[in-house]
Amino acid sequence: MFGYKDLLHELEMFNRHGVEVGSIGESTLSQRIPYIFVGNKNGNYMIVQGAIHAREHITALLCLCQAKYLVKNSGLLNLGGIYFIPMVNPDGVRLCQEGADFIEDKDKVRFLQSVNNGTDFSLWKANANAVDLNVNFDAEWGKGITNVFEPASENYVGKCPESERETQALTRFTLAVKPLVTLSYHCKGELIYWKFRQAAHRLWRDKRYADAISRVTGYNLADSRGSVGGYKDWCVSMLKIPSFTVEVGNDAFGHPYPYTQFEDILKRNEDVPRRLLNSIVKDKEKLEKAGINWTLSI
Ligand SMILES: [Zn+2]
Repeated sequence: MFGYKDLLHELEMFNRHGVEVGSIGESTLSQRIPYIFVGNKNGNYMIVQGAIHAREHITALLCLCQAKYLVKNSGLLNLGGIYFIPMVNPDGVRLCQEGADFIEDKDKVRFLQSVNNGTDFSLWKANANAVDLNVNFDAEWGKGITNVFEPASENYVGKCPESERETQALTRFTLAVKPLVTLSYHCKGELIYWKFRQAAHRLWRDKRYADAISRVTGYNLADSRGSVGGYKDWCVSMLKIPSFTVEVGNDAFGHPYPYTQFEDILKRNEDVPRRLLNSIVKDKEKLEKAGINWTLSI
């Protein structure tokens, strides 16, 4: 299993090799949420994030390996730069992998164990407040068909949109970076979600990129009707940029997803961030030459 300590160790290695690393903010339990930057600082940016759902920690390893691949093949990424945030929910991942004993506040431990109905957190998705971070964003918040309104291991929307430190950190960081595109990794289902009430011209634009991701990964496109309040939904509706949720991992396997299947996930997804960013930058430059604004946010 790939855990938070492994991530911090890998970060140190990136740093030693002169790769920019940092943090986007802190989690509920004051653990830092790291990022790795690879590429050029020329304004053409992308954000790739993983493990916003605790039990999907295999996606943190995926984001880390994607960053490594680009450091090793730095010549490939010449049109822009990518911020990788491998583990948006470090508290949840630790809870999942270690149980609640690492938490010093014993009231918090009791609260989490009662929400979880026991001490085995291996299927936990939420953060340390029992809020599901991927329904906590300000994008039709609270209107999802599976939303719940009290603390739970999954689907609890929180007290209000962006009530959680992790959500706040990711939205603030995104607004500061101003990415052209974002990619969110989840597990599982081998599906690509790309729609969130885009106007017709942006629907056409974003579907083309979703199709391109589908060709590279072999995953099918899906319609996330009824699902709201996610990071992808927020990026599409607030920033009007193309934004994708990619569910890696085959439904033939259960949760937590077996790491023995990681090679297949990596093979299908390793080069997706670079290819996606490069084609978007090329399209953006073409549009700008024709005097058309990239976001087309009419
Ligand atoms: Zn997920």
